[in-house]
Amino acid sequence: MHQPRAFVIGAGVGGLTAAAALHRRGWAVTVAERAATLEPVGAGIALAPNAQRALDVIGLGDAVRSMAGRQDEGGLRTPSGRWLSRTSQTAAAERFGGPVVVLHRADLIGLLAARLPGGTVRTGTPAAVTDPGTAERPATVRTGHGGERGGEESGEEGREGEEHTADLVVAADGIHSATRRALFPGHPAPRYAGFTAWRFVVPPPGRPFTPHETWGRGSVWGTVPLPDGRVYAYATAVLPAGGRAPDDERAELLRRFGYWHHPVPDLLAAVEPAAILRNDVYGTAVALPAYHRGRVALLGDAAHAMTPNLGQGGCQAVEDAVVLAHHAAPDPGETVRALAAYTRDRLPRTMDVVRRSARVARLSTLSSPPACALRAAAVAVADRIGPRLVLRGLDGIADWRPPRTPYAAGTLESDTTGH
Ligand SMILES: Cc1cc2nc3c(=O)[nH]c(=O)nc-3n(C[C@H](O)[C@H](O)[C@H](O)COP(=O)(O)OP(=O)(O)OC[C@H]3O[C@@H](n4cnc5c(N)ncnc54)[C@H](O)[C@@H]3O)c2cc1C
Repeated sequence: MHQPRAFVIGAGVGGLTAAAALHRRGWAVTVAERAATLEPVGAGIALAPNAQRALDVIGLGDAVRSMAGRQDEGGLRTPSGRWLSRTSQTAAAERFGGPVVVLHRADLIGLLAARLPGGTVRTGTPAAVTDPGTAERPATVRTGHGGERGGEESGEEGREGEEHTADLVVAADGIHSATRRALFPGHPAPRYAGFTAWRFVVPPPGRPFTPHETWGRGSVWGTVPLPDGRVYAYATAVLPAGGRAPDDERAELLRRFGYWHHPVPDLLAAVEPAAILRNDVYGTAVALPAYHRGRVALLGDAAHAMTPNLGQGGCQAVEDAVVLAHHAAPDPGETVRALAAYTRDRLPRTMDVVRRSARVARLSTLSSPPACALRAAAVAVADRIGPRLVLRGLDGIADWRPPRTPYAAGTLESDTTGH
């Protein structure tokens, strides 16, 4: 029997989950990652119960759940430290069936990569789709710097590429996806959301703190403990795209947040400027007409970039991956039909999350003092009327459950159950 072959472009959260889920369904999988190593950015990632349940499909949900923080309480504050809305992991578990777990990205990538047979992931390997394929014809992908379109991203030219044939190509090549541009030429690129984000990980501050997200004028700061005791901090501010601090990013953060409540000043005192990541935030402005073309499926940020306000970009990539593997039929001739089902399942849901994240982004980036005062009053009132305001933002998102696929390593059971 022909073993179906999948080729995954990009070894981020989405690509590795897709590879693990397809491998579990009996596909032969190759993953090409442009970066020289799998070392992800030094930052945390929140995985809500929807993502944890998706990870159950590849046997990783419990490993993530076991990393849940021991601090139960948290919530939304003002820069002076006043609480606007409180929440707790217990409340999240009651509402969504589990807590939101924040872990270091390196730990998540390590867990995912360990689900794959050795040699599956090829780092230092940029890849590009050369033919998306049809129901009758497999897709082809070119790897190596010669394969990247115009050499524009590698900065290198003239090196020989290698051609790969695949029954299914998974394009998980991130927010600036070259595959998306190639398959949907002319489709508008993700749009700058109007704010930039900083992230870093440091040892815990000397004094205890309660996990929080704090909303100021056009700016946000969040502090969350990681499972190993270190602390993940993130911040955003309304700024033009493409900017960099005139001196260094720690100095910039000190100017903007240095006077905010504990533990913000202590964290800024502890961080090395070089350890601070700064990224402009982009979101999908116009939904793609489909998340597939021929035998190529787009997933994660490549398909639907979203602002980080609900902490769902990675979670949705993980959902995409297991739904894609659920539909991926062992019969390669059925791939095009399977991808239509994938688009049907994923496009409306992920675009809903894109829009909901953008709404929270608009609220959190309000800058004028009257608007911010009104926002604080409205949040406090809403929190009193119906508690756990922060959690309500995840209703219909964090309670998601994966489709039931008869997964069993190495088996190719046909799946007609749907969900
Ligand atoms: C500030 C901030 C905070 C966030 N916080 C959260 C959070 O708490 N929870 C959450 O769920 N999400 C969060 N997100 C969103 C999350 O980071 C993304 O949604 C997620 O990383 C998307 O995963 P992906 O696999 O689609 O893409 P990526 O993680 O971007 O991976 C794409 C991979 O493809 C590779 N690649 C690109 N082109 C090629 C090529 N031609 N050939 C081979 N490889 C290629 C790249 O090198 C990269 O490794 C946050 C985002 C930001 C900006």
